[in-house]
Amino acid sequence: MSRHTTFEIGGPADWMALPSNPSEAATVIRVASEYSIPLTVIGKGSNLLVRDKGVRGVVLKIGEPMSLLRCEGTNIIAGAGALLADVSKFAAQCGLAGLEFAVGIPGSIGGAAFMNAGAYENEISSVVERVTAVCPGGTIRDFSADDIHFGYRHSIFQENHCVICEVSLKLRFGEKDKIAAAMADLTLRRESKQPLDWPSAGSTFRRPPGFFAGTLVEQAGCKGLRCGDAQVSDKHAGFIINAGNASAADVQALIHKVQERVQQHSGVELWPEVIILGEE
Ligand SMILES: Cc1cc2nc3c(=O)[nH]c(=O)nc-3n(C[C@H](O)[C@H](O)[C@H](O)COP(=O)(O)OP(=O)(O)OC[C@H]3O[C@@H](n4cnc5c(N)ncnc54)[C@H](O)[C@@H]3O)c2cc1C
Repeated sequence: MSRHTTFEIGGPADWMALPSNPSEAATVIRVASEYSIPLTVIGKGSNLLVRDKGVRGVVLKIGEPMSLLRCEGTNIIAGAGALLADVSKFAAQCGLAGLEFAVGIPGSIGGAAFMNAGAYENEISSVVERVTAVCPGGTIRDFSADDIHFGYRHSIFQENHCVICEVSLKLRFGEKDKIAAAMADLTLRRESKQPLDWPSAGSTFRRPPGFFAGTLVEQAGCKGLRCGDAQVSDKHAGFIINAGNASAADVQALIHKVQERVQQHSGVELWPEVIILGEE
C-alpha cells in the first residue's frame, strides 16, 4: 500500500481492484459481500495511514480508470477518481469559477466528497450538487447535497459505506484569467507554507474548535520531533512527514507523543484527521 498512499507507508493488500465504471465497482462490492471478504475503499490515498501489516481482503481503488471529466453549462461532472487538481484546472479551462480553492489538495474528487475536503475558508460541500454512489448490495444511488449531511470533514458516506463513483459540481461563469490567477496565488501560498517535498498525508490532526492544530503543536515545542523516520515537519507543525523510511508504527507513536505534549501544554485534545487503517 506504500505505492498507493502519499505517505508512502503501508504493508501489502491481499487484493486490489481498480474498476473502470460504477457497474464494475458494484460487482466487486457484491462479490466481496457474498464471500464475506472485507472491503476497503481508497482514492488517491492522500489522507491515509496504512498500518505495516497491510490490508486484509480487497482494496477497491477508485482512481484513474474512473476519472472522466465533462462540462455541462455551469456544471462539471467528474468521475470520482479524477484528481481535484485536474478537476480545478478543467473548470478553469471551461471558464467556471468556484473550485480555485481545491487546486492544491492532492486527493481525488471522490475522496474530497467523502472527507468534505476544504482549504482557505472553503469546502467541497459549497459546490457539490449531486453524488452518484454504489451502495452496499450493489445498488446505484443518487444523493443531493442535502442528502449528504456535510459537516466539518464529514459526509454521510462515512456512515453508509456507499462508494462514490461520480460527483457533479455546480460552479459559476467567471473570467478565465482571474480564475487562473487565483489558482496560481493559492498554489504559491501552499508551496511556501507546506512541506510538499516530503511524503505526508496533509494535516495530521482535525482543527479543534477555536484553535489551529499546527499552532498548538508548535507551541507545545513539537516541531522537528521524531519517532524513527516519522517527523513533525519543521516547515509546518500541522504535518507529520515521512523523512526516510518511516513505518506506520513510527507515525502512530509520533501522533501519540504529540497528542500528549499538546494536552499537557494547552489542555486541548487533538484527534487525527488522517484515517488509520489496516492490520497492526
Ligand atoms: C500535501 C497534502 C495537502 C493536503 N491538503 C489538504 C487540504 O488543504 N484540505 C483538505 O481537506 N485535505 C487536505 N489533504 C488531505 C487529502 O488530500 C484530502 O482529505 C482528500 O480529500 C483525500 O482524498 P483521497 O482521494 O486521497 O482519499 P483517500 O485518502 O484515498 O481516502 C480518504 C477516505 O475517503 C474514502 N474514499 C476515498 N475515495 C472514496 C470513494 N470514491 N468513495 C467512497 N469513499 C472514498 C476512503 O475510504 C477513506 O476513508 C492534504 C493531503 C496532503 C498529502
